[in-house]
Amino acid sequence: MHKFFTMRNLTGRARTFFSPVVIVILALFVNSELTAGPAKRDGAKPGVVLMCVSAHPDDEDGATLAYYTHIKHIKAYSIFYTRGEGGQNVIGPELYKELGEIRTEETLAASKILGTKVYFLGFPDFGYSKTAKETFRMWGGNDNVLQRIVYMIRALKPDVIITNHDTITTLPYRQHGNHQVVGITAYEAFAKAADPAYHPEQFGNGVGPWQVKKLYFRVLRKSELNQDSLVSIPVMQRSGGETIQQISWDALKKHRTQGMDKLNFHDIPEAFRQHVYKLILSVKKYPYNPHDLFSGLKPTVRPPVTLAKQYAVVLKPFSIFVHPKYSRVRDDNGSNEVFRFWLDTFNHTGAPLYFSLFAYHGKDQFFLEHEVLSRAVRDSIAFPVDVPVTAAAEDSVVISVAPHEVAKSLDLGRPSDVAYLRRITAKFDRSDYIGLVGTYDNTLAQTLSEFGVKYDPLDSATLAVGNLNRFTTIVLDIRGYLYRHDLVKYNSRILDYIRDGGNVVCFYNRPPEWNGHAFAPYPIDITNHRVTEETQPVTVLQPENPLFLYPNRITPVDWDGWVQERNIYLPSGDTSLTSSEYQRLLAMSDEDQHEPSTSLLWAKYGDGTYIYTSLALYRQVKDLNDGGVKLLFNLISQPRH
Ligand SMILES: [Zn+2]
Repeated sequence: MHKFFTMRNLTGRARTFFSPVVIVILALFVNSELTAGPAKRDGAKPGVVLMCVSAHPDDEDGATLAYYTHIKHIKAYSIFYTRGEGGQNVIGPELYKELGEIRTEETLAASKILGTKVYFLGFPDFGYSKTAKETFRMWGGNDNVLQRIVYMIRALKPDVIITNHDTITTLPYRQHGNHQVVGITAYEAFAKAADPAYHPEQFGNGVGPWQVKKLYFRVLRKSELNQDSLVSIPVMQRSGGETIQQISWDALKKHRTQGMDKLNFHDIPEAFRQHVYKLILSVKKYPYNPHDLFSGLKPTVRPPVTLAKQYAVVLKPFSIFVHPKYSRVRDDNGSNEVFRFWLDTFNHTGAPLYFSLFAYHGKDQFFLEHEVLSRAVRDSIAFPVDVPVTAAAEDSVVISVAPHEVAKSLDLGRPSDVAYLRRITAKFDRSDYIGLVGTYDNTLAQTLSEFGVKYDPLDSATLAVGNLNRFTTIVLDIRGYLYRHDLVKYNSRILDYIRDGGNVVCFYNRPPEWNGHAFAPYPIDITNHRVTEETQPVTVLQPENPLFLYPNRITPVDWDGWVQERNIYLPSGDTSLTSSEYQRLLAMSDEDQHEPSTSLLWAKYGDGTYIYTSLALYRQVKDLNDGGVKLLFNLISQPRH
């Protein structure tokens, strides 16, 4: 979506040559580092302004935004508190900051279709959060969050704010803590943005107290759709041959890392297909129109504004990410070892970019290459690094780049990233022969290759008619029953394989693809419960189970240093839903909660065994967490019968 704009295109005069859609994208660059904010351009004409506030990319109500931009030609902003980097990536291995970078691109691609202008507040998406309290804490405190959204309101001056995140009138515990915080702060900002005593240091450059006229929350439950005075957006209206609903659907499909391009429209719950709002706050009583959020509001002229740099967090013009993030140290004798890395570059400068490449290991600096070229917006560049390994328990290599040329006119800084070197003690059984039903993440395949575990990826033909009995264990990677239609189709062959003495390890699935099918030997009912605090203690309920003894003895330290979460999509603890044939091997819960002991289930079936785990093990293995790798090797190293 980022075409090759030259740097000259970013100056004011060039704007007249571009379509409004292009201007939206250019304006992002303009805001990022260079000059003035958008209102300089839009301030001259009277109008009304819409703002949608959301926690994560794809949480916006695209259809309502598209209705107002395409049909009513109103200025619309979409504000995202995070870039969604804590989520799962269903199309590739990128996670965390790099995932945030990709999701930013996806969001911008969607905004191009929706005709909106996007801002990110830059709060970290630290993974699933159960409470607003935790999210506020992770985001620097209640007031730190509130003043950020207040600033955006004071700068962009919306008449109407909408959000999907109703935390005020619904039970907060029903939703993600990040969503709760958006709902709470949108509500509080309504008064605070207009209060001249609240953070007056924000004022100046066109930013001043601003009174939003109306705040609406979207109604997302069917049971609430029959209330009085709701506003329903006519999304079946057409704009250029397509309905607004279709346009918003095209935009939603841009969120590929969230699997939205694969979603079937009819799978979306009915309440989400409607775009119905309830008025939560209003400065006065305006005439009611069942199909217009702006009823009674008059267009006004907004003064020009310059956004303060620290508030307009958008794409960095140039950033790099080093892979693999974690490498295994093979030789501990202090000799030079060659680690092979590659860089993913994200170049939003609008032109190909040359840079020099450096590596730092402790006090040593290695100059690697002078004229490295990042050709496209996203590029991958491979290079080896020779590192004399020290005896430290944990070690790292910092990769840094110095951009040339355009660096003089754009402050690109010295982007860098860190790769960690780790010593792994985990062992596997040499007789292991793994059949891997892979999905979208490559962690398992990479790890098996890296350690030299013998394995074959299982394709459709093998699943259908191949000899499965040659494998000691078959591993079904995360969300196999969503991504592998062949697995669904030939699942009876997997069950036969267990009955004949094989072992199956099934990593987590989500409720929609799993519940209502009999994929496992005995019933398992999956819920949306999870244990999000990765530091919570883990209790081993059956220490003598071979899964904790062979080939690696699992000890308490092996649960240390986990990232993101302990488990997700826990099976129900109710034995009428998740069969008591399964032994419950582990117990863990978030603080003050009581989650079922179902994160690791183990059952005998015929002559073989079946393991189902909702542990977030792939994230730990990806990080080369020794305990995580040990547990993985234990799961796959059970003897064939
Ligand atoms: Zn969200």
